Amino acid sequence: MSDARTITHLIDQAEHLLQRAGVDTPRLDAEILLADLLGVGRAYLYAHPEQEVSERVFQECMRRLERRLKREPLAYILGRAEFYALEFTVTPDVLVPRPETEVLVEAVLAKQPATVADIGTGSGCIAVAVAVNLPQVRVWATDISAGALRIAAENAQRHGVADRVQFLQGDLLQPLAGLRFDVVASNPPYVAESERLSLQPEVREWEPAHALFTGADPLQFHRRLSAEAHFHLREGGWLMLEVGMGQAEAVASLLEAAGYRQVRIRNDLAGIGRVVEGRYR
Ligand code: SAM
Ligand code: GLN
Repeated sequence: MSDARTITHLIDQAEHLLQRAGVDTPRLDAEILLADLLGVGRAYLYAHPEQEVSERVFQECMRRLERRLKREPLAYILGRAEFYALEFTVTPDVLVPRPETEVLVEAVLAKQPATVADIGTGSGCIAVAVAVNLPQVRVWATDISAGALRIAAENAQRHGVADRVQFLQGDLLQPLAGLRFDVVASNPPYVAESERLSLQPEVREWEPAHALFTGADPLQFHRRLSAEAHFHLREGGWLMLEVGMGQAEAVASLLEAAGYRQVRIRNDLAGIGRVVEGRYR
């Protein structure tokens, strides 16, 4: 990279390198990295193309660019991601929240529950978005990963809902023995090991494997949750599961076979069946 330190030159060069590295949105990523370092919005970069950046900003920009060139997710480099119009702290301990998971949040909010369990909470994005948008709700969130739960608790604190969201470590529903909820929601791992190579390097090489992969049976978590969740649902309560592309029909059948009624599939913005919900009795 040449030495010119103007905003426009830095972005052009970074875009070029990111594109060569195979990054999907090279210009956008270059702009976001630099805007974040300068503490400005992206519009500022266009308004001040000839502004020179300081040596400190230049060096830090190079460090961040090198990380992104290794295909580290932008969210880990920035330490944050947006989900349901809220900002979440993210580290490599947690999956980066996905926009399609907002469909699951919508599904939960639509039931106006008083109590919710979020199984495999990761960054806490579902639990916290639900708590922020339902001022009376109480949420219990579980994860197998202590590292993820630390970040989730930080996010609950950050959004002022720590008093209504409880985090518990353990295997799926096991930490919730004896408790029943209006909604049990989960975005469990659902990527078959055989799909690993088809994923982007950002996902495959940087995100926590235990958050994504399920071994040979991609629906193993959906099977367990549809068999066990009724022990934790109040009469008329809802089980709501996020699914991968092409999995919705099979998961709907699992819920029907387990005795759930009003089973329905909700699509994401791309028209892909993304959330399967069903009511227990
Ligand atoms: N809920 C977050 C979201 O939507 O972004 C994270 C979802 S991520 C696909 C799945 C999460 O389940 C990970 O945080 C992972 O640590 C957790 N997990 C994996 N196996 C688990 C298990 N047996 N019991 C509880 N949590 C588990
Ligand atoms: N949606 C994620 C992906 O595209 C997978 C999340 C999951 O396994 N629940 O990689």
